[in-house]
Amino acid sequence: EKYINSKDNISQIRTKFVANASHELKTPIFSIKGFVETLLDGALNDPKVNTDFLKKIYNQTERLENILTDLIDISKIESGDLKLNKKYLSINDILSFIDNSYKHLAKKKGLKLEIPDTKDLKVYVDKEHIETVFSNIIKNAINYSDTGKIVVSVKEINNSINIAISDNGIGIKNAVIDKIFQRFFRVDDDRPRKTGRSGLGLAIVKHILEGHNQQVNVRSTKDVGSTFSFILEKG
Ligand code: ADP
Repeated sequence: EKYINSKDNISQIRTKFVANASHELKTPIFSIKGFVETLLDGALNDPKVNTDFLKKIYNQTERLENILTDLIDISKIESGDLKLNKKYLSINDILSFIDNSYKHLAKKKGLKLEIPDTKDLKVYVDKEHIETVFSNIIKNAINYSDTGKIVVSVKEINNSINIAISDNGIGIKNAVIDKIFQRFFRVDDDRPRKTGRSGLGLAIVKHILEGHNQQVNVRSTKDVGSTFSFILEKG
């Protein structure tokens, strides 16, 4: 009976996953379809709006791409296909990748991204996946902040390196803070910020860090800001 129960459970989880994933994909697809229909109905020949509609279609395809990337990542991870290729890397290389990838996005929103200059610390990690961890947390910090700065800090403590990423953003209320690492979970009241997000970013972060035998922590105060932190094994 236990066996049947657990099988039911797995198929329920699978069904829910497919339902959630389809729902996320539906919104940009409907939106693209709508813009294309409007263009075909005559807007194509209206120079006042045609470029604008194409830009909107382009943005929605980017959104689709982001959601798909997250879906592919999470299904690889959850099917046990997460193959970590750990190597000794310089933390500075990871930090400069992050700096190059996100400083423009932060600046565009009027936010400052502060990345420390550390001494040559080595970490033992899977490069691509740990970059995803940083990326997902920093993308959120940018997305859920309107002012202030995003500060990355790196502290060497015994055999580990403590990483913390803080923002002065909208914060997360206590009642839901335990849920933010669940797949597809998003805080209800930040609906306007949802565009382009899958609700999978932090679930992916959690899985990748677990693959490195680490966990992710969060401290947050509503309307004040959040700090996400984790430990990396020193190389
Ligand atoms: P999403 O793709 O929606 O950002 P995530 O899994 O990355 O999904 O995050 C889950 C939810 O946690 C977000 O929808 C948001 O409500 C909340 N959240 C994550 N990071 C932050 C942050 N830095 N500040 C405020 N809220 C956050």
